[in-house]
Amino acid sequence: MTQSCAEIAGVTVSLDHWIDGRRVSSPERFSNASPIDGSDLGAVSAAGQAEADMAVKAASKAFPAWAALGPQGRLPILRRFAEGILARGKDIAAVESLDNGSLLMGNLHRMVPRAAQNISFFAEWALGLNDHVIDHEEVINNVRYDPSGVAALITPWNAPMMLTTWKVGPALAAGNTIVIKPPEWAPLTCSLLADIAHEAGVPPGVLNVVQGIGEVAGDALVNNPDLARISFTGSTDTAKIIGQAAARSITPMSAELGGKSPFIVCADADLDAAAQTVAGQYINAGQVCLAGTRILVEKSIEAEFLDKVRAAVSHMTVGDPREAATRVGPLIHPEHFARVAGFVERAKAAGGEVLWGGGQADAGGLYFQPTMFAHVSPSDEIAQKEVFGPVLTWQTFASDDEAIAIANGTEYGLAGTLFCGNEARAMRIAERVVAGTLWVNCFFVRDLAAPFGGSRISGIGREGGTHSFDFYCDIKNIAVRKGSFGAAGG
Ligand code: NAD
Repeated sequence: MTQSCAEIAGVTVSLDHWIDGRRVSSPERFSNASPIDGSDLGAVSAAGQAEADMAVKAASKAFPAWAALGPQGRLPILRRFAEGILARGKDIAAVESLDNGSLLMGNLHRMVPRAAQNISFFAEWALGLNDHVIDHEEVINNVRYDPSGVAALITPWNAPMMLTTWKVGPALAAGNTIVIKPPEWAPLTCSLLADIAHEAGVPPGVLNVVQGIGEVAGDALVNNPDLARISFTGSTDTAKIIGQAAARSITPMSAELGGKSPFIVCADADLDAAAQTVAGQYINAGQVCLAGTRILVEKSIEAEFLDKVRAAVSHMTVGDPREAATRVGPLIHPEHFARVAGFVERAKAAGGEVLWGGGQADAGGLYFQPTMFAHVSPSDEIAQKEVFGPVLTWQTFASDDEAIAIANGTEYGLAGTLFCGNEARAMRIAERVVAGTLWVNCFFVRDLAAPFGGSRISGIGREGGTHSFDFYCDIKNIAVRKGSFGAAGG
C-alpha cells in the first residue's frame, strides 16, 4: 500500500497531488529527505503526463465559474485563504524548516505573514483593476483586466511557501485557475497550501498541485497547449528550457531567475550597519536569490571594514535551523552541497584567497562554513556565476566608475545593495547599476506594490502591484465612440 501521508514535525502532510478538489496518488514516487539531518520525509507522488494533463483539465473546467465571480466575489474566499495561512503558521513554519532547512524563526515571523499577505493584498488590489478609463476626444477607452485562463506556477525550493503564494495571490485574484508544480527538493508546504485553500472554500479545480520531478512533471505541465500563462521562479538554465515550450504555443511566460548581485560599500557609509548587512547575506546558507554576493568596498576603508565584517560573521551560528540562535542552516541537498563545494575548490585552485570558511562546517552533513574569497578577478568564475550558497567575494574599487563597472560586469541583473552616506552620490551610483531592485542603506525590504523582477538573464517581466496583473490578465480596451448611444445611452 503506497504511503499517502507523513507526520512531519507533528503535522500531517499529504504526499499526493491535489487535483480537482481531491487527493490523487501516483504509483511513481520520489524520495524526500530533510537537509537538517538526512531524515526521511516520505515518498511523494511523482506526476507524469497523465497527472499533469488531469490537473490542467480540472483547472480549465473550473475557470469559467471562478472568472465569473469577479474580484468582489473572490475576495471573501481569498481573505479566508489568507487567514487560514496565518492560522496554520506554526505548522507551515515547522514543515518548511524541516523540508528545506530554512530558519524556523524566519519562517514563522517573516515568511508565513508574507505568504498570507501575498493572498490578501492581491485580492484587495484586484477590486480597483477595471476602473481605468482613458478619455480621448472621440472615444472613451475602458481598460479592462480580464482573467486569462489556466496558469502554471513553478517554484524553487529555497522559499516554496513565500514564492508560491507570490504567484498564487495575483493569479487567483485575477480570476485565473492554477496548477502549481512545487520543487521536488521541498514539496511539502505546497501540499499544506492545498488543504488550506480547500478549507477556505476555494472551489475544486481552481487550485491544483502536481508534485513531481522538474524534467518530467514540470515538462509535461509547461508543454500543455491549454495553458494561458507560465510563471516560473528558478534557475536561468531551466528558464531557457521552459521558454522553448512557451514559445511553441506563444504562451506568455514570466521568469524570476538567478542573480550575482553586487553589494557596494562607500567610504562615507554607516560601516557598522553595512557590516551587519554583509553578514546577513549568509542567512539561509546564502540560498537567497537576492543575496549581495559580490562585496565591493571603497579602497580607503578596506582594512577597517574587513575587521567589522569579520567580527559580525564570527558571531553567526551555523547549525540546526530550528534553533533560535542559528543564522546559517544547511544546504538543501547533497547534490547542491557538491556543487557549492566545487565552486569553492575551483576558486581556490584559481588563486582565490580564503579570508574565512572554505569548506564543510563543524556541524558536518550539509552544513557549509560562511566563506569569503579575496584576490579574485572580476572575470573569475567565483565572481561571475551564481553559487547559491554561503560564499561571497571581496573586491575593492577606487572610484564610482570602477564600482559601477564591476557591479555591471556579469550577465545577471537581479538586485544590488549600496551603503553610502551621501544621497546625491548614492542616487548617481544607484541609477547606473543594472538591477531590478537596488537597495540603498537597507536590504530585502520589498513592498508588494513595487515592481519586482530581474534584468538581463535574471528574468523576464516584472511582478508586484499592477505589474502582476499586467502578466496574469488579458488586458483589453473597450473603446466606445462618445455620444454614439445618444443622451439616454441606447
Ligand atoms: P530550478 O530551475 O532547478 O528548479 C525550479 C523549479 O523548476 C522546480 O520546481 C523544478 O522542479 C522545475 N523544473 C526543473 N526543470 C524543469 C523543466 N524542464 N520543466 C519545467 N519545470 C522544471 O531551480 P532551483 O534549483 O529549484 O532554485 C534555485 C534557483 O532559483 C537559483 O538560481 C535562484 O537564484 C533562483 N531563484 C530566483 C528567485 C527570484 O525571485 N528571482 C527566487 C528564488 C530562487
